[in-house]
Amino acid sequence: MRVAATDVLPALRGQATAGGALADFIWFRTGGPAEWLVRPADVADLAAFVGALDPAVPVFPIGVGSNLIVRDGGVAGVTVRLPKSFAKVTIEPGNRVRAGAAAMGISVASAARDAGIAGLEFLRGIPGTVGGACRMNAGAYGRDVSDVLVSYTAVTRDGAVVEAPAAALGYSYRHSALSEGAVVVEALFEGVPGDPATIGAEMDRIAAEREASQPLRSRTGGSTFKNPPGDKAWALIDRAGCRGLMRGAAQVSEKHCNFLLNLGGASSADIEALGDEVRARVLAETGVTLEWEIQRVGETA
Ligand SMILES: Cc1cc2nc3c(=O)[nH]c(=O)nc-3n(C[C@H](O)[C@H](O)[C@H](O)COP(=O)(O)OP(=O)(O)OC[C@H]3O[C@@H](n4cnc5c(N)ncnc54)[C@H](O)[C@@H]3O)c2cc1C
Repeated sequence: MRVAATDVLPALRGQATAGGALADFIWFRTGGPAEWLVRPADVADLAAFVGALDPAVPVFPIGVGSNLIVRDGGVAGVTVRLPKSFAKVTIEPGNRVRAGAAAMGISVASAARDAGIAGLEFLRGIPGTVGGACRMNAGAYGRDVSDVLVSYTAVTRDGAVVEAPAAALGYSYRHSALSEGAVVVEALFEGVPGDPATIGAEMDRIAAEREASQPLRSRTGGSTFKNPPGDKAWALIDRAGCRGLMRGAAQVSEKHCNFLLNLGGASSADIEALGDEVRARVLAETGVTLEWEIQRVGETA
C-alpha cells in the first residue's frame, strides 16, 4: 500500500476498503484490486474527502465496469464507487429527468417512459451508470448523451462541487473532456413529450435487438474499439479474420466481433493482448488503426 490509511480514513464518513476487489463487479470479472476502494456517504462527504486527499494520489471513478479493463496489478490510489444513495431518478418540469450518477441507464429510460418523456430510450440498451455514460458520451441508435444532457454536477479532484452545462464536456464520439479525477455525481437530461406506450415499445425493440446481436450474458466490456469515421469496427475485425480468435481464455465474440469475452479464467492481460492482436491484424489487413473504446486502467501484474 502506498497510500496510508491515515491519509484516507479521517476525512471520510463513507466506507474505504484497502485492496477492494473490483473483479467482483466489473463486467469482465478480471483484474486486480483497488489500492483503496471508497464509497462516499454523500456529495459533501466525497467533496471533503478528495479535497483533503494528497493531490498526488490519483482518484479514479468507476461505475459498473461495462467499458473497462482493469489490469491484473490493480489500480493505484483511490477508486471511487458511488453507492445506491447516488442512484435517485426524479422527473422535473420541461421533460427533464434528474439522475444520480450511480443510476443505471435503464432506470433513467424507464422513469422517462413512465413520465411520457421521449428521446431517452437509447439509454435502455447501455448497461452502465449515468456517470459512466456522461464520461463516455455513451450512445446507440444514432443518439448519444451529448444529445440529451442539459447539465451535470461533478466533484473535481480538488474537492469543489461544480455544476456545469453539458457543453463544458466538449463532447465528441465516445469522448468527453471531463477533467482527470473528477467524479460526476448527478446529471440532468431533457427529452420531448411522448406517449408512454410508444416509448415502451421502442425500449422493448432496443432490448430485443440487443439480445439478438450482442453477447449480453457474457463477461465482456462492450464495444472494444471505436468505429472509425465512415466504417464499422466489427466489419474491419471480421475482414481481418479475427471472429472467434482466442488468447488464453479470452475470445473475440462469434456473435459480435467488436466484443471481447472472458470465457472463464482469462486474465486482463489475456484480454488486452487479444485486443492488441486484433488491432495489429486489422492494420495489416485493412490499413486502419483501430482506437480503443474500452478504457484500460491500472498496472500490469
Ligand atoms: C453488453 C454491452 C453493451 C454495450 N453497449 C453500448 C452501447 O450501445 N453504446 C455505448 O456507448 N456503450 C455501450 N457499452 C459500454 C458501456 O456500457 C458504456 O460505456 C457505459 O457508459 C459505461 O458505464 P459504466 O458505469 O459501466 O462505466 P465504467 O465502465 O465503470 O467506466 C467507464 C469510464 O467512465 C468513467 N466513469 C464511470 N463512472 C464515472 C463517474 N461517476 N464520474 C466520472 N467518470 C466516471 C470511468 O472512470 C471510465 O473512464 C456496452 C457495454 C456492454 C457490456
